[in-house]
Amino acid sequence: MNRFHYIVAGAGCAGLSFLVRLLQTGQFSDKKILLIDHSLKNANDRTWCFWEKTPGLFDAVVYKQWQHLWLCDHAHVRLYDIAPYTYKMIRGIDFYQYCLEFIRKYPNVIIEQATIQRMENTHNGAVLETNGQLYEADHIFSSILLQKPVLKKGQYHLLQHFKGWVIETQEAVFNPAEATLMDFRVSQEQGTAFVYVMPFTPHRALVEYTLFSDSTLRSEEYDAGLKNYIHTFLNTSNYTVQEEEFGVIPMTNYRFPSSDGAITYMGTAGGQTKASSGYTFQFIQKQTAQLVDAILRNVKPVIDTSLLQRRFHWYDSILLNVLAKNKLPGAVIFTTLFNKNEIRDVLQFLDNETSLLQEIKIITVLPKRIFLRAALEQLT
Ligand SMILES: Cc1cc2nc3c(=O)[nH]c(=O)nc-3n(C[C@H](O)[C@H](O)[C@H](O)COP(=O)(O)OP(=O)(O)OC[C@H]3O[C@@H](n4cnc5c(N)ncnc54)[C@H](O)[C@@H]3O)c2cc1C
Repeated sequence: MNRFHYIVAGAGCAGLSFLVRLLQTGQFSDKKILLIDHSLKNANDRTWCFWEKTPGLFDAVVYKQWQHLWLCDHAHVRLYDIAPYTYKMIRGIDFYQYCLEFIRKYPNVIIEQATIQRMENTHNGAVLETNGQLYEADHIFSSILLQKPVLKKGQYHLLQHFKGWVIETQEAVFNPAEATLMDFRVSQEQGTAFVYVMPFTPHRALVEYTLFSDSTLRSEEYDAGLKNYIHTFLNTSNYTVQEEEFGVIPMTNYRFPSSDGAITYMGTAGGQTKASSGYTFQFIQKQTAQLVDAILRNVKPVIDTSLLQRRFHWYDSILLNVLAKNKLPGAVIFTTLFNKNEIRDVLQFLDNETSLLQEIKIITVLPKRIFLRAALEQLT
């Protein structure tokens, strides 16, 4: 059996972010590390959008960034200046190539392509099994979920599902300095639905049709949503679809375990997907930075959220309660939050970085009776 110091199980956003951060410290070039994934990570399988104030670790692969964002519903069409934040986009393929190129410079890191079937603690670390191979390590950092979460009372599991097209238009349709974060002027019949538009040039943009609901749609229903939006709100029929992306992000207040003995969970599998928004990229950056910091300090690499931080889990549960029980349309919730607050406060709130005082101010713009009742339900 092969023994490693660390095994990084999963070479997606969390696995690669973690390993790049770890190697960058310059203190692990003598440790035997295994990075294992069943995918070669050579496809542009997703696009990450997120906001941040300062330059980030992966700025070298930011494909496009915006300072101005539109938020629209039938009553308001409003352009926001999001300073001091910048909204950034990273293409999956650029991220994978950048990270893997960096990691390949370290001969102490072995990269294996295999399907992981089992991970378990042992008396002196943890073991990982693929089809036919066993690997042992002092510690495993895993972004792979081998068991489906079992929900308890008060826990919800909605899906954020979306189809996106990169389109090339004949006329100059887009202003590349302004992106659309959420446009709710689409049918809300099948759940909370919105479109976002990330323009790269006056002729080229990613247009994504997104829904929050219990189940995914048929492929042609997303196509119809996209076509309809492009025709009605982008006012063009002269375009070609250059690329397509489809994705499903879990929106759940299930409590993902942060660790199990010598196995630490990262990324979505480690509870880093924000239940109320689906945003994950920046939470992964914070989590992996904290894990590397813990390793450097020689303490157990496990990040347990503080009691104070857990209030954000409660806020997310309240929102899921309202959405899952159809107490209020998502479009009303999000547009109210944005229209009645400073956008930078809302972005800070969605990052779980506000103070209690700010949160009271932000949340109390929402319909009080509905949210108070949901808040009480989520306490019990
Ligand atoms: C299409 C799409 C778009 C998204 N857009 C955004 C966005 O704009 N902003 C944002 O903040 N979040 C976004 N997300 C959510 C989230 O950021 C991503 O899902 C992110 O990739 C999560 O990182 P992760 O490391 O937890 O999981 P992943 O990146 O999915 O990595 C898990 C890895 O494990 C591997 N794997 C899984 N099972 C096994 C197994 N049994 N054996 C071996 N390998 C295995 C997979 O191949 C994968 O490489 C998006 C998600 C999707 C699906």
